[in-house]
Parts: sequence; structure tokens; C-alpha cells
Amino acid sequence: EGRETRLRVVLRVRPLTCTETRRGDQRVVHSLGDGAVHVSAARHDATFGFSAVFDAGASQEAVFEGSGMRQLVELAMDGFSCTVFAFGQTGSGKTYTLMGPLAQSDTQPASPALLGLMQRSFTCLLEQSRSRGSDLALSASYLEIYNEQIRDLLSPGPPCSLPLRWSKTRGFYVENQLSVEFESLEAIVSLLLQGSQRRRTSAHALNRHSSRSHALLTIHVRSRAHHPPTWVLQAGACPSKQGTLCFVDLAGSERVKETGSSGELSLEANSINRSLLALGHCISLLAKPRGKRAHIPYRDSKLTRLLARSLGGSGITLMVACVSPSSRCLSETLSTLHYASRARRVTTRP
Ligand code: ADP
Ligand code: MG
Repeated sequence: EGRETRLRVVLRVRPLTCTETRRGDQRVVHSLGDGAVHVSAARHDATFGFSAVFDAGASQEAVFEGSGMRQLVELAMDGFSCTVFAFGQTGSGKTYTLMGPLAQSDTQPASPALLGLMQRSFTCLLEQSRSRGSDLALSASYLEIYNEQIRDLLSPGPPCSLPLRWSKTRGFYVENQLSVEFESLEAIVSLLLQGSQRRRTSAHALNRHSSRSHALLTIHVRSRAHHPPTWVLQAGACPSKQGTLCFVDLAGSERVKETGSSGELSLEANSINRSLLALGHCISLLAKPRGKRAHIPYRDSKLTRLLARSLGGSGITLMVACVSPSSRCLSETLSTLHYASRARRVTTRP
């Protein structure tokens, strides 16, 4: 508590897809063990280090256990603001890592072994809350940032844009966002599904179900106060603690040329790229030592405003960088690896 803590950055390399294998793409990303990963291709030869590296054979469970996700859930229950975000090129496996293949087929439920970090965290959260026997109130909110507008994915009816405000006590926050209480795994999974179906996706060349928005699902964990004596309240003490666990599925970085986007799609791509650029800029400034830091331009995008606390404030953050092993994705993969390495130097004060 209060001590400078580094962002935890892990890397996941997905298997080659059928299309990539059929095309005869070479694998250029290899795990060396101990958190090291090697990229080898003509004119490029580099090694990067992370807190953990998961290669093509890693199961969803291995990623949950090895990434530190379980500890993050426990910290959220202890009252900290925790965030996990998936970052990487379109089609690199971000949504798969967070939600599993379930997000992509609405007819067949995914097999339990394939469930992603989110469902595993929900299970862990509900189990813990039962075993601790404390009176915890759980609620969820789910937002997307689409073309620099914030939309509530849980409120019924046509999407409308919500204002983003700032206050001294709360920092940046979204006004009027819906927060839905839940007590069971079925309830939270169904909120996740409903919300995900409202997300803006569109098909383009790299990924049939590409997410065109950044999505943030936040679980609020509040311990209910046990009717404190009135003098406690009068003294201004806060008898309950509140933690959060936020899952961020970033829309992929992409080149308009590679994905064949045009018209409305390229407007989307530009807003996505602009906010990812702003995020990259904040991360490289935050990676400098505290004394030498310039002003951090969180206000450059809605995404960076919403992530301000996770990146530079009092949050605890896990970043899961996702890459494809294919030679065809080499330049995007290298840029994700550089970006993720830089993020390892970012610190917060939980
Ligand atoms: P993103 O969200 O980064 O755009 P997706 O998560 O949608 O990418 O993944 C792209 C494709 O690759 C999907 O068809 C997904 O099922 C598949 N995929 C991604 N990661 C894995 C993995 N670890 N194992 C098997 N298939 C994967
Ligand atoms: Mg996705």
C-alpha cells in the first residue's frame, strides 16, 4: 500500500490459425522460457523479457494462474482498484484471452476449459466472497468507447453517449452509467453476454468478429458496513471499503491498408488508432522516472482518461500483450513487444 509498484506485463502468443497454416506462414515468435521471448526473421532478431510468456500450447487455465489474475481478484476484494487490459493487433487473441471463444458464437456455449480470464475471475470472486463470509455487495458496469463516444452496454434501448467528468475526489468518471448488482455466476455471465452482443463489431479481412470499440467491464466490490455506531460516522470515517476490478478489451491496432477498411470503417480505424496512440504516448511518458516526468496528457482521449488511475494513479494493473506468431504479422508484433516492454517501467502507488 502506498509503495511504488510496477505494472505487471505478460505476453501471450496464440497458435497459428488454420488460414495462416494453410498459407504456409512461418512462426517467428518463440518462447525461450523464464519470461523471455525471441523474434527471429530476416533482418529482425530480438529478445524481450516479460513477467511471464504463454506460448501457443498454453491453456486458458494456465494463463489465469500464471498471469497473476487470481491475486488481482483478491486485491480487488481487499479494496484496491485493479485493472487488466488486453493489448495487441487485431486478431492477436485479446478477446479470446479475456472471454474465450464464447463471445463469438451465440448458439453454442463454450466448453468450460476454454473460458477466459473474465469468467475465471468471476468464479474466483464469488467463491472467495462466499468463503470469506463477509457481507460483500457485487455490481457490474459495462461501457464501450466507440468513435470517442462512451456508451453504456448494459442499459436497454438504443445506445446513447454518456458524459465523462472529473472531480477531485473521484478523478475521471462516467456520469449516469448503469451499475447492476449480481450474486451468481449465471447473472454476471449473462450481463457480460448481453453487453458484448451490443458491442460494435464489423467484419474485415483480418478477423471476422473484429471489435471496433474499446470495452471496459468493471466489477465493484463493496463490503457492506455492519451498522457502525453513530460516532464513527460523525468522525467522518468511512466504515466500508470499495474495490474495483476492471477488464479492458482494447480494439486492435491496425493499418487501414491491411484490413481493407474504407469509408465508415476507416473513420472507426482512425478513432481507434488515435486513442491507442494517446495511450502509447501516456505509457512512454509514465515509463520515465517520476522526477523527470513531464505532464501526462490523459486528456488526449477518453480511453486514457478512463485508464488514468490504472496507469499512473493508485491502481494495480496487469497488461496482457497478445501477438500472432506469423511472419506476416512481424511488424505489428514487434511494435506490440516494444510497447509492452516500455509498459513494464510504469509504476503506480496502490
Ligand atoms: P482479437 O480480439 O485480438 O481481435 P480474437 O481473440 O478474436 O482476436 O482472436 C482471433 C482468432 O484467433 C479467433 O478466431 C480466436 O478464436 C483465435 N484464437 C486467439 N487466441 C487463441 C488461442 N490461444 N488458442 C486458439 N485460438 C485462438
Ligand atoms: Mg477482439
